[in-house]
Amino acid sequence: MKLLEERILKEGKVKEGGILKVDSFLNHQMDIGLFEEMAEELYRLYGSENVTKILTLEASGIGIACIVGQRFKCPVIFAKKSKTKNIDGAVYTAEVESFTHGKTYEIIVSKDFLHPTDRVLIIDDFLANGSALSGLVKIVEDAGATLVGAGIAIEKAFQPGGDMLRKKGVRIESLARIKSLREDGGIEFC
Ligand code: 5GP
Repeated sequence: MKLLEERILKEGKVKEGGILKVDSFLNHQMDIGLFEEMAEELYRLYGSENVTKILTLEASGIGIACIVGQRFKCPVIFAKKSKTKNIDGAVYTAEVESFTHGKTYEIIVSKDFLHPTDRVLIIDDFLANGSALSGLVKIVEDAGATLVGAGIAIEKAFQPGGDMLRKKGVRIESLARIKSLREDGGIEFC
């Protein structure tokens, strides 16, 4: 998506360890007009799939997911990062390894909100090693719901997550795919 790529080139900052900071329009301050354009593009790609739920992960996926949910006219669920090992029976859980913080944490979704009749579109801001997306896919599978696919704002295609999950049959549509990030600030798209 040209608009998103241009914004990344203009405002994205490359940090150590292959991290891209896009705090001025996506991860801290949010450009809702841009999110609307992204939602429109995802609707073009997935609009015929009868999506009944949008699923994302707190915190940075929530903003985009809300605007996408508004376009698809369906509820938005965000998986919570649980702070306790004390799980009650009424939740789906998955383990996720944080790319940016290097820690493993558990994500949870209440069984009240995902059902076998649901057709789920997963939304996230970044796809890197694929741990966050794998965790969300597991939750959809555990619920017996249908996974329509994933809509990702920025895929770092030089990391293995996208290939790994596509090989497993997950449809992934990324609005910007980055081929390389150089520490001198150079950003190249696929
Ligand atoms: P993965 O689980 O695919 O390795 O990483 C995905 C998650 O890590 C995303 O939800 C995002 O929050 C975070 N992340 C991964 N790479 C980056 C990055 O380059 N920049 C930022 N801001 N977040 C990232």
